[in-house]
Amino acid sequence: MEKNDILFETALEQFDTVAEILQLEDEIRERMRFPKRSLIVSVPVRLDNGTVKVFRGYRVQHDITLGPSKGGIRYHPNVDLNEVSALAMLMTWKCALMHMPYGGAKGGVQCNPEEMSQNELERMTRRYTTEIVQIIGPDRDIPAPDLYTNSQTMAWMMDTYSVQQGNTVPGVVTGKPLLLGGSLGRAEGTGRGVAYMVIEAARVLYKELRGLRVAIQGMGNVGSVATRLLYDQGCNIVAVSDVSGGAYNPKGILVPYLMHHIKEHKHVVGLREADAITNEELFELDCDVIIPAAIEGQITETNADKVRAKIIVEGANGPTTPEADKILFDKKVFLVPDILANAGGVTVSYFEWVQDIQYYFWSEEDIQKKLKDVMVGTFNRVLALSNKQGVDLRTAALMLGIGRVADAKKLRGLYLNGIMDFHGSAAQ
Ligand code: GLU
Repeated sequence: MEKNDILFETALEQFDTVAEILQLEDEIRERMRFPKRSLIVSVPVRLDNGTVKVFRGYRVQHDITLGPSKGGIRYHPNVDLNEVSALAMLMTWKCALMHMPYGGAKGGVQCNPEEMSQNELERMTRRYTTEIVQIIGPDRDIPAPDLYTNSQTMAWMMDTYSVQQGNTVPGVVTGKPLLLGGSLGRAEGTGRGVAYMVIEAARVLYKELRGLRVAIQGMGNVGSVATRLLYDQGCNIVAVSDVSGGAYNPKGILVPYLMHHIKEHKHVVGLREADAITNEELFELDCDVIIPAAIEGQITETNADKVRAKIIVEGANGPTTPEADKILFDKKVFLVPDILANAGGVTVSYFEWVQDIQYYFWSEEDIQKKLKDVMVGTFNRVLALSNKQGVDLRTAALMLGIGRVADAKKLRGLYLNGIMDFHGSAAQ
């Protein structure tokens, strides 16, 4: 099976396991297993050399029971229908877990953004937005940044959508620049949430935050913000990595210098006063915390056994396979799962959307306080359920998210149920 097929199968397997624990009725399960809507589009783009290239674009809306669907847009060579479908499903559970009035969605374009110019990226973004314009909107489906997309991408999407509507619609996407209706704290939201989860996990395991040895895979938006915040809290950042490779210094990496190095050279590789390591080696280091903040499928049955950290906080979506989950659970690793650990991003997205549709903007202090309350409050709910049921934190988080959607579906009932059912009882 291809990697993305596995990701989709895994999402379904996880759902089935939790549906069984929750004893969901078969008909509710069937309705929750598959996406509500999937759209595949061709995105023709004129490249800088004058030729036209057609990219494949996707938007999958997994669920809309609790409100409009919500989720990021990624630009990556691996994007395909299975990947975005799996990630859209995870978004549904994530939004429900965080008590947000959203269902889950995900989208993307299969491309290599590292090889594209800004102009090409802009043309691709505008054409992709146009191709999916009928199914997005502030009360339909609200995209946001994900892998290799950022506030500029969201500005282009918002502009394209608004021009076609004939008026400015800031609430159609989140993660926008501040000036265009973005929210204070959004760019940092995911990384900040990850940092809160490290702090909470350390508290539960009675570990001192000062000197806590942390290794981070991925220096994108999530990884770099978490690195900086944890360094400021006194943690010892022993290793970092990105696609170019990693750097390791058991005495601790000087993070301001690291950030300067990345700004200059674009990548971690070549960092002074650190040993070069591979992404694989990062997971086997002698440290207290690992934060996978890159892509899916990083901790698998081949390396889970070699993990020495006692805490894993998943900044990325789907970085751990189910086989690895079992190994880590047996090893008593405290693993904060993606749908909780990286939910700070969509949480501040929700704040941004609320501010946009009310045209009333909050202070950074307000946003950070609300984010912390939501993250820590949810962490405690998940921890309590996991202790009560004797399940890992991922299962507990999924139980809360999936259970909430299932309850909402039951309350809403099935459209046309009683009317079509001539032989059965009245509508229920
Ligand atoms: N892409 C982020 C995620 O996976 C954020 C989604 C959003 O803000 O809507 O959670």
